[in-house]
Amino acid sequence: MKMSLAEIAQAIQAHNQVDQWGDIEVRSVAFDSRNLEAGGLFVPLKGEQDGHQYVAKAFENGAKATLWAKDHPYDPADGYPRLVVDDPLEALQQLGKYYLNKINPIVVAVTGSNGKTTTKDMVASILATQMNVIKTYANFNNEIGVPVTLLNMEANTEAVVVEMGMDRFGQLDLLSRLTTPDIAVVTMIGEAHIEFFGSRDKIADAKMEITHGLAEDGTFVYDGDEPLLRERAAKLSQQTKTFGRQLDDDLYATSVNPDVDHVSFTVNQWPDEVFTIPLVGEYNVNNALAAMTVGKLMHVTPANMKQALQNVELTENRSEWVAGANGERILSDVYNSNPTAVKEVLATLATIPVAGKRVAVLGDMLELGEASARLHAGLCDAIMNGHLDEVYLIGGEMGALKDALLKAGYPAGQLHYYQAAQRKALTDALQASLTTGDVVLLKASHGLHLEKVLAQLEK
Ligand code: ATP
Ligand code: MG
Repeated sequence: MKMSLAEIAQAIQAHNQVDQWGDIEVRSVAFDSRNLEAGGLFVPLKGEQDGHQYVAKAFENGAKATLWAKDHPYDPADGYPRLVVDDPLEALQQLGKYYLNKINPIVVAVTGSNGKTTTKDMVASILATQMNVIKTYANFNNEIGVPVTLLNMEANTEAVVVEMGMDRFGQLDLLSRLTTPDIAVVTMIGEAHIEFFGSRDKIADAKMEITHGLAEDGTFVYDGDEPLLRERAAKLSQQTKTFGRQLDDDLYATSVNPDVDHVSFTVNQWPDEVFTIPLVGEYNVNNALAAMTVGKLMHVTPANMKQALQNVELTENRSEWVAGANGERILSDVYNSNPTAVKEVLATLATIPVAGKRVAVLGDMLELGEASARLHAGLCDAIMNGHLDEVYLIGGEMGALKDALLKAGYPAGQLHYYQAAQRKALTDALQASLTTGDVVLLKASHGLHLEKVLAQLEK
């Protein structure tokens, strides 16, 4: 981006006179003084610390100007070019919106309990076959990350794909009004953050906020197999499109063939094409169908979509295959866990050809609040049906699952339970048991630090 301070001051209605700095040109925006590019505008945000204390540091690192909160004690002696505003975060959002309107790309907004980042990457990959696309960086999906993404757009950007996260009401409302999407996507409704919302109904209400800024001639794209979304989508004035596994969805998979490190599938709309995604987990077919629905709306050809999906550049491959030192194959998914995702990955694991033992190591799914014990115990069926030879559970919350499994008659000899503090004992037991041909899944919320188990198994 490239904007003069005079232009920025007007866009965000700065309170101070900036005449003497009006011609200064800003080329980027940053809120971390360490990540600032030379020529950047520094945005002091209030987090655990107050960003204003890093203003001098930002200028040392090449900042050209800074935002400044009106009520922050002003030190006129330092003389840095500054724009005084009520609230730097709001000003950042206002500036993002201003710049978005100026560049005027197509906006695709993506939310959902799971699959946001994956779908965002797939949409960007598909649209990139015919236009200049940018997407939110990594997992930059909140009220700070989204405007920063917008402000990092090149002037020739034709489409921007924005991941939008939420853990409370009002968040998607803000992000949707900020970006006024042409296409808004809800990948699925799960149980993430149910602690805050109390029910899946409420989660669905919160997700629908992504339509609050949706253009009148825009399209709402959603998981058609989710009745909570169907009900709500029916009330929208905008066009809607569904994807999923059922015959009444606009786009649905007619066959799905999971393999060790990829999944192939066919789609009702283009019966002659076989699509492949370089990901495990059948749920990723749904993410791909969501992205293809966007591609279809934007008139991308099926041949281009096929290419784009095959070569999709993923932000951060969360489920990945890793070779273990004993010759076992490890399916590592150690950064994030929730009931839907665990059930999906166990179902996938059950279909993978395995020469040796099929093993699951599951750690606590955190942030489930009062529903936690019920949701942990709720994995019982998925494990009973998982064709597993050994199950290792770790963490206090997993106690409820251990009890449920024993009660359901799961063989005690194949079930191993560890407290969170016993990670080393778990690792030793795995190392002693795993051999060539075994397949082992590692999945837990990041708080359980199964990446440390992984690191040992890899050695
Ligand atoms: P976050 O809330 O951390 O940003 P996200 O919504 O961006 O997550 P991804 O990063 O795409 O989601 O995927 C995270 C994990 O969620 C995956 O590794 C997988 O376990 C699970 N997952 C992804 N897509 C789906 C889906 N459509 N249905 C169920 N689970 C999914
Ligand atoms: Mg994400």
